[in-house]
Amino acid sequence: MDFQTALEAGDIPAIRQVPKADLHNHFVGGGDRDYIFEKTGRRIAPLERKLASMADMHAWFDGATEGLFANRDGRLIAFEAALIQARRDGVTRLEIGDDVWAITLNDFSAEALVGALTAAHQRIAPEIEWIAQLGFSRHCPVFAIERWLQPFLDLGFGQSVDLSGDEFAQPIEAFTPVYKRVKAAGLRLKAHVGEWGTADDVWRAVELLELDEVQHGIAAASSPQVMRFLADNRIRLNVCPTSNVMLGRVDDLASHPIRVLYDAGVRVTVNTDDVLIFGQSLSEEFLNLHRAGVFDAAELDEIRLNGLTD
Ligand SMILES: [Zn+2]
Repeated sequence: MDFQTALEAGDIPAIRQVPKADLHNHFVGGGDRDYIFEKTGRRIAPLERKLASMADMHAWFDGATEGLFANRDGRLIAFEAALIQARRDGVTRLEIGDDVWAITLNDFSAEALVGALTAAHQRIAPEIEWIAQLGFSRHCPVFAIERWLQPFLDLGFGQSVDLSGDEFAQPIEAFTPVYKRVKAAGLRLKAHVGEWGTADDVWRAVELLELDEVQHGIAAASSPQVMRFLADNRIRLNVCPTSNVMLGRVDDLASHPIRVLYDAGVRVTVNTDDVLIFGQSLSEEFLNLHRAGVFDAAELDEIRLNGLTD
C-alpha cells in the first residue's frame, strides 16, 4: 500500500512499511521501550501530562529513567534502542549521534565512542541510512566543546552537528567559532532554535552559524519575512509536532504552525524528538497530522519525501 492510501485508511502497519526519515531524534529519549526493558529491567512509561518547561521535561525523564543512561554503557543501550525503535517503525534514514561531551563519561574516548556506535549500527540496523550527528549542548562552555569536538573531526567522523538544550543558556553568537570549524570540515549544520525563542532568533541563528537546517524553528511562523528568508535559502525545518504540544509550545496539533510554514514555502519535515518521552512514533506523527486535518495525504507524502534527501 502506498503512503497516501495508508494515511487515508489510518493503517499504521502500512504507514510503517513506507520509507521515512527521522532527522530530529535525541537517541537517549528515542529508544524502544521493550528493548530497554529487556536490557535493564526498567519499563519506562510515556509521559501522561503536559510539561511546563525543559527543566520539567528533564526532571520527568531523570525520574523515569533513574540515571539509566547517565553512563557509558547506558548510553550505548539507549543508542541501540533508538536504532531498534526506528527499524520497527520503518524509518529508513535516521540522524542520531552523541553529544561530544559524552567522551568525558567513564574514561570514554572519541575513538571508542565512534567504534561502539558504528558497531551498533552494523549489528542492529545496517539497512538504515545512519546520518552520524555530533551534538553540542547550549549549556557547555564553547572552549570545552571545541576541545571535545576535535578528536571526532580528526577521525573524520560525523556528517552533521546540532546544538540543543536551553535556547537561552548562552547567546547564539558564542557558538560562531565552533560552527566555522565544523563548516570547514564539511559537516551539515543544524541547531535547535525557535522552539522557545522568537522568529528573529531563528533568522539570527541561521545567518550567524550558517545553518543548513533548523531543529524546530516553529517561531518563524509568526514572521512572513523570516519565512521568506528560510524559503529563499532552502533552510529545512525539522519539526516535532507532539513534542511542541506536550511542551506547551503550541495549543494542539490542529493549530500547529507547521501548516503556516508549509504554506509559506518553507521546507519542513516531521520528526519524533523523543519517542520514549512523548510516546508517538514517526508513523503516528504523520497519521496524527492527517487526522487533525493539518495536511492531506498528498501533502504529508511531500513532507515525508523532504526528509529523504538533503
Ligand atoms: Zn530536539
